[in-house]
Amino acid sequence: MTIHERKAIPIPQVEPRAPIPEQNLRIPGPTPVPAEVLAEMARPMINHRGPEFAAIVRRVTARLQYFFQTTSPVLTYAASGTGGQESAVANLFSPGDPVVAITIGAFGNRFASIAEAYGLQVTRIEFPWGQAADPNIVEERLKSTASAGSYKGVLLTHNETSTGVTNDVETLAAVIRHLNPDALIAVDAVSSLGCVPLEMDAWDLDVVFTGSQKGWMSPPGVMMIAPGPRAWEANKTAKSPRFYFDWANTRKSLELGQHPSTPAVSVFYALDIALEMMLNEGRQAIFERHQRIGDYVRWRVQEMGLELLAGHRYASNTVTAVLTPADLDTKALLKKLREQDSVVFAGGQGQLEGKIFRVGHLGYFQEIDLVEAMDMLEKRLRESGLTG
Ligand SMILES: *Cc1c(COP(=O)(O)O)cnc(C)c1O
Repeated sequence: MTIHERKAIPIPQVEPRAPIPEQNLRIPGPTPVPAEVLAEMARPMINHRGPEFAAIVRRVTARLQYFFQTTSPVLTYAASGTGGQESAVANLFSPGDPVVAITIGAFGNRFASIAEAYGLQVTRIEFPWGQAADPNIVEERLKSTASAGSYKGVLLTHNETSTGVTNDVETLAAVIRHLNPDALIAVDAVSSLGCVPLEMDAWDLDVVFTGSQKGWMSPPGVMMIAPGPRAWEANKTAKSPRFYFDWANTRKSLELGQHPSTPAVSVFYALDIALEMMLNEGRQAIFERHQRIGDYVRWRVQEMGLELLAGHRYASNTVTAVLTPADLDTKALLKKLREQDSVVFAGGQGQLEGKIFRVGHLGYFQEIDLVEAMDMLEKRLRESGLTG
């Protein structure tokens, strides 16, 4: 046995804290948070098993049910959206279970990879990035590749944030349900719920999840997930290993207005007031605002002579992916906008890195935020001689 010499760890030399300038944050999450919500988060900590926090939990989860459009309980976890994907896989299935993953981009692929990591037999139905899942092709592929009825579930993305495409989940779910009435349909609605229509019960979806930092005018830290009746049945026999994300355990605590472990208290403060603001605006009015801004951004981008990645029919109202002209350095453009104009856009992911940039328009924004962002983009493009 060797005895190691104890080495003193020096006090680290780090960059000093610096003020962060105000930015026009136009990425698809984290998204801007209203001042009222930020102020609420400055409240002192309370006991997460006390009556005050239980009241917040009851308010937040009841209002989430309204936005999910479900009578099923909405469970919450201190996690990001990826936790929703993992939670769905771990609670619905057993190792070796056959599932189908319909993927149209990076987040659909991540959902499929998590299923593979849990030892599921995953059949991927893939579509080119920038396109939506075609229900007719999905129907054909479900009939042929995975012999109908043999797969236990289907993993689906509502809004593919990496490509700016919204799937027609209502139609896709109907196709799946028709072919395989018992299939568990798990929907990643991380960047769509609360912004564009999604009706969990009416569309007969089994699991739907989202994250606080996307459409909910709140910071990252809370993942919300609603399992429906079929999902709860499957949960009883699903043998995938799970502890932190165990739904049954979480549901028991929720009945007391609690969580099995410590929740993100401050993000609950945020959601509490953010959901109140959303209800004051009205669900339909929020959907219309996102539609209006989606149309505006697409119009402006095309006016500048740029091309959209997504076709008109499936273009997302929460994030727009813009093809960067071949003679333009995407990274340099985004850097200039960030450093000189305080406008922050997102780059491309995976196979689209360097080929697109993305404009986030979900959650809390005024129309003027997007007008300014588009004006700055146009100015920088004109400078590069790329637009008239
Ligand atoms: C953001 C996002 C995720 C992952 O969420 P994280 O919070 O980054 O873990 C998953 N799916 C979709 C569709 C997303 O937009």
